[in-house]
Amino acid sequence: MNEYPCGIIRDLLPLYYDNVCSKESRQAVEEHLHTCPACQKELQKLTNDLIIPERKGQTEEEKKVMEFSSFLRSFREKSYRKGLYIGIITALLLTVITFYLFPLLIVDTGSGMFALLLLIPAFCFLTAFLFGLLAGIQWLYPLLIAALFLPTIWIYYNSSAWIYVIPYTILALVGNLTGGLIRKFVLKHKNRP
Ligand SMILES: [Zn+2]
Repeated sequence: MNEYPCGIIRDLLPLYYDNVCSKESRQAVEEHLHTCPACQKELQKLTNDLIIPERKGQTEEEKKVMEFSSFLRSFREKSYRKGLYIGIITALLLTVITFYLFPLLIVDTGSGMFALLLLIPAFCFLTAFLFGLLAGIQWLYPLLIAALFLPTIWIYYNSSAWIYVIPYTILALVGNLTGGLIRKFVLKHKNRP
């Protein structure tokens, strides 16, 4: 039933497509479309014209989101690596000073005890704490500290001093965990809107 000429139907097609025409118009368009392949084609064209830019827009949008998130990720990785490098250098420097220079201050048993029981453990913990803040929790860190301490046993102390490697390693572990957890908490807090 071709009640309306194609011209009127084509004028209505955009409204029909957008679903903003009256029920009567809608019905008229649908009835016309059933019998008019030319207008069907016109509707198809309209659909393609409207859908393709929309798809393009979506992928454009998606691209932007992807670019932004990869930018953020790369920045986070970079700053993480930066923190890791600075942390490793700082920790190595402080640990070498603690383990290899502080014993030079030892002149008698009293100063020896002070160094081994207070000064070195305190620096061990503080260095590990600082390292944790900069580089996060690193499970190899306490082993590195143990490895750095061991040669000093033969350089500065007698063989019975090996026992100190246990508290120093534990302090390094606890310090690293504490600093690393605080870093995690701060980063999480900072990222909140
Ligand atoms: Zn028609």
